[in-house]
Amino acid sequence: MATEQVKNQADFDVIAIGAGFAGLGLIHYVREAGLSIRVFDKASDIGGTWTWNRYPGAASDSECYYYCLTFSKELLQEWKWSVRYPGWEENLRYMHFVADRCNMWPHISLNTKIVSADYQEKSGLWLVRTEAGESFTCRYFISAMGMISEPVIPEFKNMTAFKGPCFHSARWPEGLDYSGKRIGIIGSGATTVQMLPVVAQTAAQVTVFQRTANFVMPAVQKPITTEWDQEIKANYDQIIQKCRNHSFGMAFDSPVGRNLSDTPPDEVQKILEEHWPRGSFRFVFETFDDLVVNAESNRVVGDFIIRKMKEKVKDAEVADLLTPKGYPFFAKRPPLDHGYFETFNRDNVKLVDINEREPIVEFTETGIRTTKQSYEFDIIVLATGFQAYTGAQEALPIRGRNGLLLKDKWKHESSSIMGVFVSGFPNLFMITGPQAPFANLPTSIEQNIHYIVDCIKKMEHESLDVCDPKPDAEAAWTAHTAEIHQMTLMAQGDKVNSWMMGANLKDKKPRVLIYFGGANNYYDKMRESARAGFPEVEFKRRA
Ligand code: NAP
Repeated sequence: MATEQVKNQADFDVIAIGAGFAGLGLIHYVREAGLSIRVFDKASDIGGTWTWNRYPGAASDSECYYYCLTFSKELLQEWKWSVRYPGWEENLRYMHFVADRCNMWPHISLNTKIVSADYQEKSGLWLVRTEAGESFTCRYFISAMGMISEPVIPEFKNMTAFKGPCFHSARWPEGLDYSGKRIGIIGSGATTVQMLPVVAQTAAQVTVFQRTANFVMPAVQKPITTEWDQEIKANYDQIIQKCRNHSFGMAFDSPVGRNLSDTPPDEVQKILEEHWPRGSFRFVFETFDDLVVNAESNRVVGDFIIRKMKEKVKDAEVADLLTPKGYPFFAKRPPLDHGYFETFNRDNVKLVDINEREPIVEFTETGIRTTKQSYEFDIIVLATGFQAYTGAQEALPIRGRNGLLLKDKWKHESSSIMGVFVSGFPNLFMITGPQAPFANLPTSIEQNIHYIVDCIKKMEHESLDVCDPKPDAEAAWTAHTAEIHQMTLMAQGDKVNSWMMGANLKDKKPRVLIYFGGANNYYDKMRESARAGFPEVEFKRRA
């Protein structure tokens, strides 16, 4: 174990955990600021979400040309995507391309699990320890662990009784041959919506155990043709600008300046029909501006989506089960469809309602028993989601001032300042922590990095040692986030059971995890804060 070190004798200026988009982006910007950085990751490869989520069909739901890092114009011009929504393999190839071209590998330690991170009051350094027993110090400690990375493992009776492979979707075993096998999938979120159409093609039988049906919108996958690639590359400055100015960090035109509530019903249907075949989240952001704030507008668009689903699903009973009920559209993150609904027309696919009709009773040696019958499986996949926003930080003992554990600090409320700073945790920065927006992640990540690196640069230039987030600024951001949340349809009490509010976590009360005031406004607020000299934190010099 390293002993406490004195000022400026840290092993690295910056230590970050997580070698996904955030880790790679940090290496670029921190190095550019003339500081040293080491990125640790427990995974055997870089890629973050794309190194863990290797289930069949795993692909980005953001379109490729804005689901990338934008710090190098050369890289944006050089890289060519093959399809609109790249699969995990292509996303990983892209990240290797970035790491190779920018010579990032010397800054990355893979297969290195960090088991604790402690703020050392005396030296002002953070001390991180690895599972192998090494320890390193740094002046600035950054969580780049991802906002959807720590799995939720459900607890069913006798789970260990099942003899076959049973794993979380984000831990898909390498080389697993599932062809000809009987597969049970628990969960019906974005992961299952992507996975099912692929596994059903070669599996003998697939059974989906669904608790809540989703509003699912079309992805409309397509190749990136030479012409499209040229158009993208000729317009990258505008694409980046659009992302920066969009409420979800995506390269969409918005707002469209039209409310559904002010539009005649015939015209509404015409607009929805026109936009539906275009695919992507554009359907939400390029049709009407009031879909997530006006309950009646939300109902109309929700009904439209349900009607489209019913046109695809042949069996009326299955279609009824697939109909989302009792919560507004977009209160749960809507998945994008790559043939999900048509897959339920196959003879080898079955949907089981475990919410009302036949809840799961227990796992058995050979499968799953519900209140109505026993199902036999060779493989069980737990596509049960993630402990979003806080899970990764809470899984690691991070101790701030006076030994306070971040996990304990967040016991009742996952408060922060803009998802970046936490009071009581000096010189700790988070990338897309709780109370940051939910948006196209590379956009938010790069905006967060600009903000964090600007703060670090200020400290370096002004010889400041300690950046202490102010409790009153944290209380103000938390109150502001809650106030905005109340103005959305997300705040419909019990109707909304979404990971976006941590409602999927057994041991926690739902809470406001997301800033819904618009990613563009959030990016503006970070810029304003940086321009004003970071009034949300108190800077100090050490004696
Ligand atoms: P999810 O949306 O949280 O879905 C988890 C599913 O498991 C839900 O259907 C949930 O039911 C069910 N579930 C959880 N615990 C359960 C239990 N104990 N018993 C029965 N059912 C249970 O997780 P996900 O599908 O992995 O997606 C999570 C997020 O990751 C997405 O919203 C998205 O942001 C991201 N993601 C992105 C992509 C992409 O961009 N390409 C792909 C996949 C995932 P309830 O709904 O009733 O809770």
